[in-house]
Amino acid sequence: GSIKRLSTSTALEELIVPPVQIAYTQNLIDGKFVDAASGKTFPTYDPRTGEVIAHVAEGDAEDVNRAVAAARKAFDEGPWPKMTPYERSRILLRFADLVEKHSDELAALETWNNGKLHEQAAKAELPLLIRLFHYYAGWADKIHGLTVPADGNHHVQTLHEPIGVAGQIIPWNFPLLMFAWKVGPALACGNTIVLKTAEQTPLTALYVAKLFHEAGLPPGVLNVVSGFGPTAGAALASHMDVDKIAFTGSTDTGKVVLELAAKSNLKPVTLELGGKSPFIVCEDADIDHAVELAHFALFFNQGQCCCAGSRTFVHERVYDEFLEKAKARALRRVVGDPFKKGVEQGPQIDSEQFEKVLRYIRSGIESNATLECGGDRLGKKGYFIQPTVFSNVTDDMLIAKDEIFGPVQSILKFKDLDEVIRRANATRYGLAAGVFTKNIDTANTLTRALRAGTVWVNCFDVFDAAIPFGGYKMSGIGREKGIYSLHNYLQIAHRAQFVIMQWNGSHHPCRKS
Ligand code: NAD
Repeated sequence: GSIKRLSTSTALEELIVPPVQIAYTQNLIDGKFVDAASGKTFPTYDPRTGEVIAHVAEGDAEDVNRAVAAARKAFDEGPWPKMTPYERSRILLRFADLVEKHSDELAALETWNNGKLHEQAAKAELPLLIRLFHYYAGWADKIHGLTVPADGNHHVQTLHEPIGVAGQIIPWNFPLLMFAWKVGPALACGNTIVLKTAEQTPLTALYVAKLFHEAGLPPGVLNVVSGFGPTAGAALASHMDVDKIAFTGSTDTGKVVLELAAKSNLKPVTLELGGKSPFIVCEDADIDHAVELAHFALFFNQGQCCCAGSRTFVHERVYDEFLEKAKARALRRVVGDPFKKGVEQGPQIDSEQFEKVLRYIRSGIESNATLECGGDRLGKKGYFIQPTVFSNVTDDMLIAKDEIFGPVQSILKFKDLDEVIRRANATRYGLAAGVFTKNIDTANTLTRALRAGTVWVNCFDVFDAAIPFGGYKMSGIGREKGIYSLHNYLQIAHRAQFVIMQWNGSHHPCRKS
């Protein structure tokens, strides 16, 4: 069958013009929008058409230096780390309110620059961002140390202090949410920040950073630099005045960031990297439901999720039925303009990712996986790819090993639990996994045995500010969100005091002599 969709050519002729102006394209340093030191700019695109929508200041090492100097000053001298935690909390809450007020423009801008579904940006991602700032606003005044009895002669207290200047490097697949995951906990703890956005999606972070200043954030606390990885990103990771680095992106780049941090000042690093997450459909599963969830687990956000369920393992007894229905579901998937209602899939982010996904599809065909549907681009403009399903995929194929980051579902067959546990874990990644079963013993066995940061049972992509997220193995180091993220942005210090025990209790006001 052919792919049912809004005809891409028609959809693109009637492109819905987003109701938003691009107001901020310069770097935000010390509370002011400024051009790049070099005066250079780079284009940013609409992935629906590949057309340029704005030119953005191209930050490099010099801009990072200026941003770090501003963040350093704001940390060492500025009011932010010394403000009462309650005042910091109020600013985070005011920011969340302003984002809510500007949600329409922000959702439109996010879709325009990224190609993600407008409905998803507006109804899921912006509410998650707002929720996250409410959550960390709640933490700001609840971060405190302990007193430790130690040996009786010493009075010991621990201090939970902000770590200092945090360098944060984010990817393009969830520009606003990645901003939130990084900035929320860092600010709640009283740190200052230099954030480098992904070169593909610089626009919404600048917009919300502006809102943060409207909310009362002092200048220099949050600096945003647009620019490329090997220049701006590397300068941040290797900066001697940056006290901590947090990165989300590919495993290869994560290694580079870790190395730069090690070779400079040994700043601690948290990494949220790639994945090749298994989605396991057991023989007792409700097949229609499993098909829908496996489809969502892989195709959500055009397949551009670090936790995408990109290895669909199906029990041999239900394999044929599952495959037929999974293929039918992919053929029904509506691809088109992400601003249009009813569209389920927009374009890939850029020509590089688009070409990379098509290369993986060719590799799947060459390695003799069965192409059930899709396999090609859609339309002539923009970066649309047909929803693609491969069956008869085996573990040794590149499409079963590498992160494709596109709308390509790989279906693998398994016989029993021991086998699927072994195969699901036989990957260098360990970010997430999905388990689909009605049997509680099977669910418990799999959730304990799977080596992944997150295991979803009979659900997928359940996110909340309070739920930690992060990877085993080469999927990363550390956890983001929840209380766990706070520890990434705190320095735990202890202060010991020798106690001279002179008091024998005879002066206690309750003791009548
Ligand atoms: P990337 O890892 O290269 O980019 C992520 C961020 O790192 C961007 O801000 C980029 O500018 C920065 N960066 C790049 N090189 C750097 C360097 N040398 N020093 C410091 N920072 C640097 O990812 P990409 O090239 O955009 O995408 C490649 C692949 O990465 C994708 O196909 C996908 O598999 C994976 N990816 C994963 C995630 C995730 O959420 N885990 C997000 C985006 C991409």
